[in-house]
Amino acid sequence: MKNEIGKKICPDCKSANISLLLDGSFGKYQCNNCEYKGVLIIEEKSDSNEHEEKMKKDLETLKKEMKEKKY
Ligand SMILES: [Zn+2]
Repeated sequence: MKNEIGKKICPDCKSANISLLLDGSFGKYQCNNCEYKGVLIIEEKSDSNEHEEKMKKDLETLKKEMKEKKY
């Protein structure tokens, strides 16, 4: 199962095949591609950004439509 909240990328091999290790009280990450283990990870929030961009676009379209209809 994939967790899609924020895309995590291995700092070593740039693979997105990352799983979270719960090692004691620390949240560590493990790369399934190169077996990197550590707390350092690259996190991309492309999904939420995409969502935001889409919301903005929808809003702009709505504004345009409102202008054209001359509300
Ligand atoms: Zn890796």
